[in-house]
Amino acid sequence: MLIDGFGRTVDYLRVSVTERCNFRCQYCMPEKPFSWVPKEDLLSYEDLFRFIKIGIDEGIKKIRITGGEPLLRENLDTFINMIYSYKNDIDLALTTNGYLLPQLAQKLKNVGLKRINISLDSLKKDVVEQIANKDVLDTVLEGIKEASKVGFKIKINCVPLKSINESELVDILEFSKKHGYQVRFIEFMENNHANSMIEGLNSDEIQKIIKTKYNFKKCERIGSSPSQDYELEDGYKFGIIEPHKDDFCATCNRVRLTASGVLIPCLYFEDAQSIKKAIQNNDINEATKIFKNVLANKPEKNKWNEVTTSSRAFYETGG
Ligand code: SAM
Ligand code: SF4
Repeated sequence: MLIDGFGRTVDYLRVSVTERCNFRCQYCMPEKPFSWVPKEDLLSYEDLFRFIKIGIDEGIKKIRITGGEPLLRENLDTFINMIYSYKNDIDLALTTNGYLLPQLAQKLKNVGLKRINISLDSLKKDVVEQIANKDVLDTVLEGIKEASKVGFKIKINCVPLKSINESELVDILEFSKKHGYQVRFIEFMENNHANSMIEGLNSDEIQKIIKTKYNFKKCERIGSSPSQDYELEDGYKFGIIEPHKDDFCATCNRVRLTASGVLIPCLYFEDAQSIKKAIQNNDINEATKIFKNVLANKPEKNKWNEVTTSSRAFYETGG
């Protein structure tokens, strides 16, 4: 079992397979060109899997594949199958912008992926284009439909932004409800890589908008999810992820691995260590030692109360 320095059990590993993306969401990535990590500096699937095996052997029970846009990395289905074949009861999930799902959803289902979270910030073509810097709505909707058709349980992620998609939050909730997806509104996390002009809505503002049409009650927090759930009168539940708070830190069970082998104990904490060399040298003892050291130094709480913006790039850490 993996226990951190504050006695929390860590059983959830988020793995970013690339920091590259086919979108340029204003809240995540700069629009102008910047340098990607060269492909040769990324861990191969074999290397990532070697680390994942250590994690699973030590007690990891849930793995989420993320990015950048994870579906951009070639043969992702083969990588997912490596994990599934090693331990088929792992809760194996993916976070994606959905753009490549029309052609990949069935393949991903066939190799053991269990759940998919898909980002959808608006149902209007021009607004999606404004946010993602690309005309993608039709393809993303097709991707969501295909993923649902092949049998995935789907969650929708939406980042509410002032004067951009704030008038659509009820529509996005109703779209999700109608199709049986759970929607989670994620408070915008300020970071140096986002467009400095954008402003997010906080949880109170999001709730106020939903209240214009629906009554709902706050649900009791279960488990270690950072999402605070709310229940409409008809039983439908939506979530709000409130990263600026730290009440979910006490039950935090997660650790993040970037595509270039950096192990991050907390999204809002600058400390991190690389397992790249150890893994590439097949030095399992050293990689395990670094892993445990990172967990021993996992902070008790996030540091949002000390900063107003993060220097971490979400497309590197995987959100
Ligand atoms: N490309 C995939 C996607 O967009 O779903 C996966 C990676 S993305 C970094 C993971 C999640 O982080 C997405 O749901 C995205 O909306 C969210 N995200 C990115 N930047 C964010 C920010 N600054 N604040 C809040 N959420 C953010
Ligand atoms: Fe790409 Fe996801 Fe970041 Fe948007 S949020 S730029 S889709 S990594």
